[in-house]
Amino acid sequence: MASNGVDRTFIKDLAEHVGESVLIKGWVSVRRDQGKMVFFDFRDMTGTVQGLVTPGAAAMDTAKNTARESVVAITATVQERPGKNAQAGKQNGNIELLIQEIEVLSPAAVLPFEVNEDTAGIGEESRLAYRYLDLRGERMQRNIRLRSELVQRCREYLFGEKFTEIETPLLTESTPEGSRDFVVPSRLHPGKFYALPQSPQQYKQLLMVGGFERYFQIARAVRDEDLRADRGFEHTQIDIEMSFVSQEDVMSTVEAMITRTVEAMGYVVKEKPFPRFTYAEAMEKFGADKFDLRTPEDKEKGVLAYAWIHKFPFFEKIPEGGWTFTHNPFSMPTPEHVEQLLAKKDVGDILTTQYDLVCNGYEAGGGSIRAHKPEILKAVYETMGYSAGETEERIGHMLKAFEFGVPPHGGIALGVERLVMNLTGETHLREVQAFPMTRGGQTSVMKAPKELTPDQLAELGIQISPKPKHEPR
Ligand code: ASP
Repeated sequence: MASNGVDRTFIKDLAEHVGESVLIKGWVSVRRDQGKMVFFDFRDMTGTVQGLVTPGAAAMDTAKNTARESVVAITATVQERPGKNAQAGKQNGNIELLIQEIEVLSPAAVLPFEVNEDTAGIGEESRLAYRYLDLRGERMQRNIRLRSELVQRCREYLFGEKFTEIETPLLTESTPEGSRDFVVPSRLHPGKFYALPQSPQQYKQLLMVGGFERYFQIARAVRDEDLRADRGFEHTQIDIEMSFVSQEDVMSTVEAMITRTVEAMGYVVKEKPFPRFTYAEAMEKFGADKFDLRTPEDKEKGVLAYAWIHKFPFFEKIPEGGWTFTHNPFSMPTPEHVEQLLAKKDVGDILTTQYDLVCNGYEAGGGSIRAHKPEILKAVYETMGYSAGETEERIGHMLKAFEFGVPPHGGIALGVERLVMNLTGETHLREVQAFPMTRGGQTSVMKAPKELTPDQLAELGIQISPKPKHEPR
């Protein structure tokens, strides 16, 4: 049997085995049946290689019947390619496999679309219904691996700076990030619901009260927002919180992490330190709080133009009258506006310690120094029109925690998808997530959202009203 007795060789290492018999395992990318001979391209996670079955070889029958994208184990001799066929500069361009045996580990059916060509032009529904095939393509392999490398490098940087990686709950209470919550019904407490976290904001602050001082998490955040090319229901963020820090400290930690990471990955950062703009300057100069500082030449070269925006207004008017937060209700106002907030005077002029990171036209992240004094946090909620009772109901647990010795703290969250979009030049979230949702909010491959069975509904004490308020799209 081909798969016994010999260790598998990775395709990238084949050139070291010229003249030897090897066993490789992977997929059939290409099969060219030329009658007397059959040519193949094989692929594993390390690369591709050409192989051939010559007249009279025992493998000929199988070779003729092995469909593309089947999973195979190949026993073959590595040989140098005849000079005229060699492809200099290409991986394994100078070698080929003379195939003795093909074992089909798993045959592939007729493919719904071509996976060896860029799938960008294929309809989203088909790509996502067969996402596992779409992922086999070169671009998706590259993007998802690059995402993994980015996260790994950021993690390593943070560990080096004495951060602790801590997970926070998924089933939790609503945290305001300005979006709608996804909710999960409780079976044990019929009629009550958990919310999925829009961010780990409150838990990470509680971890500061808990004495960890430097926290990070590669966190999933779930927000029921209108879907756009660059925004989905779920995203991942590099979520950071630090104790005893100023705005400057958080910004320089993040700047060092990003710069070190992307430069190690071979990218060029346009300007270091990252330029800074106040919100007012950004609005005046670019008419928006996210902007692209690249020249057309930078764009061609894949340069990364990071910039910070700070000194945002803390509050904005809501249509019904009154105020809401622009970014984060847990933020501290800028030092010169603390008194103003406590007095609730000229609310529209109060600035927050919020800082946003932008890159190449996208908002890549944002954070702030937090209001760790209960009276300041209370004043934020009063400004937004919450009664003492409502404030207690929403954030009483935070106010309570802050009574027991809380270090001044601040943090940030960086969107992993946005960071990867910047690196790859992709403009759609689905190109940098393994299993994204469709524009209509349907999951890849699987069929959520879908109905529950009558039994499940009964167990949860839920009745579905016949007319949903919003027609499904
Ligand atoms: N909680 C914020 C967010 O998820 C980030 C932060 O302020 O740290 O966008």
